[in-house]
This record gives sequence, structure tokens and C-alpha cells, in this order.
Amino acid sequence: MIAENISTNKPVDRNHPLATKIRKQITQALVDFNMLKNDDKLMICVSGGKDSSILAILMDEIRKRAEIDFEFTAVMLDQKQPGFNADQFKNWLASENIKFQMIEKDTYSIVTDKIKDGVYCSLCSKLRRAILYDFAFDHKYTKMALGHHRDDLIETTLLNLFYTGQLSTMPAKLRSDDNRNTIIRPLAYVAEKDLIELSKIWNMPIIPCNLCGSQEGMKRKKMKKLIIDLEKDIPNLGGSFLNALMNVKPSHLLDEKIYDFKNL
Ligand code: SF4
Repeated sequence: MIAENISTNKPVDRNHPLATKIRKQITQALVDFNMLKNDDKLMICVSGGKDSSILAILMDEIRKRAEIDFEFTAVMLDQKQPGFNADQFKNWLASENIKFQMIEKDTYSIVTDKIKDGVYCSLCSKLRRAILYDFAFDHKYTKMALGHHRDDLIETTLLNLFYTGQLSTMPAKLRSDDNRNTIIRPLAYVAEKDLIELSKIWNMPIIPCNLCGSQEGMKRKKMKKLIIDLEKDIPNLGGSFLNALMNVKPSHLLDEKIYDFKNL
């Protein structure tokens, strides 16, 4: 059993008010960070989860309405987790007229061979990233889009703050260290709760990310719980956090590399 929901392959309602809200937030991020330009060939990395799937569908809407010409393909990596089967997901994307390509690489054997404590995610993600980056470069994709949303950015900021002593997050747009790939995160402004709600409204055939039997990182889970707890008292925490990330005051931090305190 792979898909959690049974899709009837009826087209989703792309004009649902929540879909429209999310589409507008994506468009805003695309504009603010100059994420796309004419003739871009975009690879949207889809995992089978709600976030990247919604991104692919709404990006199709944006493409139809955009003043620039760009094309995209939803690319999925089959990591050979036991029981992985993307047939229903593929059919669903086809019914939405989304171009799709599958890559097959057995990273599952590598992580289970190398990692003995059952927490595979870190190595699994590293291998996945390397494969996808190589694939995008080899197939001349000009950009890669990832499905990270506003809450991923917030959690990452807190993780970096509390565990690595760095004030940084997942950037909305990034050039890879080897200069081969440009990565964009068009869902940077979108709240996870909206993605969850839309995935239910659309009744999407989601592929769960737990086939490998690994646990989500405890630290990230802790950050998620912290945010959920705080949101009970601070309902606009997500929006305010995002604004903070976009409103940095170097003179009110302590980093000499970004502000010349010595010559004040
Ligand atoms: S849950 Fe499994 S498939 Fe997902 S990142 Fe972790 S190890 Fe990889």
C-alpha cells in the first residue's frame, strides 16, 4: 500500500480560494527573488508529498498566466525504499497534464548498509540531493525548484540558531557551491497549514516518506513543536518570523563581517 488517499483522478479545483491564495504567494516569491526568467527549463523535484505536488500543479497555473515563457518537468527519485510504488501518483500527475520523469537509484541499500542506528534521513537526503543536482545539470535544467515552505524555513532558522550558532535559513534562491545548479524555493511564503488543508481539499494521492522506517530528525521535531506551542499565544508568529528574515538589521547584530563596527 503506497498512496494514503484514493485519487479519483478528477482534476483538482485549481481555482479554489485556498489554491488561489497559495498561487499568489508563490508568484510573489517568484517576483521578489527573480526566480524565473524567459526560456528557463525548470525541474521541480517532487517527492510524492503534499508540498512539492501542490507546487507542481500551481506552477502549471502560473506558467499558463505568466508573461515569460518557461517550461517545467516534475522529477521524482525512486530510492528503492521497500514497497515504493509511484503508479497512482504518476497517473494523477498525468491527469493534471504535468510532465513527469522518474529517476531510479538504490540509495536505500547504501543508507541501510552504512547507518546502523536507524536514523537514515541525513545520509539519505545527501545522496538524494547529489543525484538530483547531477540529473538537473546533465539534462540542462536551468533551475531546480524544491518544495520547502515557510515553516521549513522557520524550523531551519531555529535549528541553525540553537544547534550551530548561525543566523541563517534555507535561502529562497541559491547557487550551488560548485556553481552548476540554481535552486529556488517558490513556497517560501506559504504556511504549511495551508498546504495541508489544500492537500485534503484536493484529495491528493500522497506517497508517505516513511517507507524506509526512519524517524524524522528529533531536533527538527522539537522545533516544530516549539513553534506550534508558541503559535497558541502568538497567532501571527509565522508571518512575523518571515518578515524578520526579510528585514535584517546588520547594525543591530554582532557580526563584524556584515557591519563595520570598528570604524563607527
Ligand atoms: S524519511 Fe526515509 S526517505 Fe525520507 S528522508 Fe528520511 S530516510 Fe529518506
